[in-house]
Amino acid sequence: PSSPFHPHPPSPVVPSSSTSLQAYAKDKLSDQMVKLFEACQQQTSDLERKELCRFQLQEDIRRVFAVATLYLTGSSMNGLGCRSSDADLCLVIKGHKRVDAIHVLSQLQQLFRSLSYVEKTQLIRAKVPILRFRKKGSDLEFDLNVNNTVGIRNTFLLRSYANADLRIRPLILVIKKWARHNQINDASKGTLSSYTLVLMVLHYLQTLKDPVLPSLQKDFPDCFDPYLDLDEVPDRATRVPPYLSKNQSSLGELLLGFLKYYATEFRWEKQVISVREARSLPKADFQEWRHKYICIEEPFERNNVARAVHEQVKFDAINDQFFESWRILQRSKDLNSILPVRMTI
Ligand code: ATP
Ligand code: MG
Repeated sequence: PSSPFHPHPPSPVVPSSSTSLQAYAKDKLSDQMVKLFEACQQQTSDLERKELCRFQLQEDIRRVFAVATLYLTGSSMNGLGCRSSDADLCLVIKGHKRVDAIHVLSQLQQLFRSLSYVEKTQLIRAKVPILRFRKKGSDLEFDLNVNNTVGIRNTFLLRSYANADLRIRPLILVIKKWARHNQINDASKGTLSSYTLVLMVLHYLQTLKDPVLPSLQKDFPDCFDPYLDLDEVPDRATRVPPYLSKNQSSLGELLLGFLKYYATEFRWEKQVISVREARSLPKADFQEWRHKYICIEEPFERNNVARAVHEQVKFDAINDQFFESWRILQRSKDLNSILPVRMTI
């Protein structure tokens, strides 16, 4: 009964081979990044636990919505997850693109109250409404949305980027940990969502003098066709070959470069990030984005993924953090100076 996106058993998130990663980790900072990555990355057993729950939930949901399919999305599936990452779920009710999400989620909340393996359900009325809940007796948290299918497409895109170069997954995991530790990774508090941060990292890697990444949407338009039937969206990144970059920078160099780029080079008041085009676009071309602090285009829907940042103080805090961390790390070349590792694992 599963879609191609969810084969059984679930496709494992293959841990990167540490021997090949070592080539990018010959200095202390890069080595610290690899160690943190290896300690924190999502394990196959974590994914299996999530997949089992997804399957059980789908069975139970089909008692109410017979034509529903439940997809696992986000960092659990895109190769950028930690052991502690939540599980993002998208419920697709076929033929009902315009269902009232709040109404469906209220019905699900009722249903979930009768399920023995679910607890702490909470309906969150955000722009994309979600039902948040936990697997009973565990710290495994789920965020379920209805028909927000762009998440299925962009999960495949991010997964393909994550697999395009060995350095992507450790670099992004460290940056997500750094942002969380420094309290700039929480869209519900007006700062950056993880998804926004990931697009910022991809943009930096795409626009280096020797790019580490291309635009996969430009190079493989058929794979990332925004109108592809959902059943055709693959669960693996095997459709695109690894990108062979001339850029052999170490992980530490890329982390420093990322901080420096957003601390000193990127012009938020003038530029829009487009991962789709692998470049920045002039903000003046987008009437509706002119007064936004941070403009980052969703690769499929082309709306602003950073709309949560709508207060000057939050925007300033984000900028200050980039500048301060860049300054400190440049001097110390020690990951502990911006992200105390023992507190993070
Ligand atoms: P974490 O490991 O911190 O949970 P994550 O990769 O799951 O990170 P989230 O920001 O929680 O990232 O988002 C989960 C998924 O929801 C994303 O991978 C993406 O598929 C989708 N998503 C989130 N925000 C948006 C958005 N603004 N537009 C479209 N899709 C989004
Ligand atoms: Mg998530």
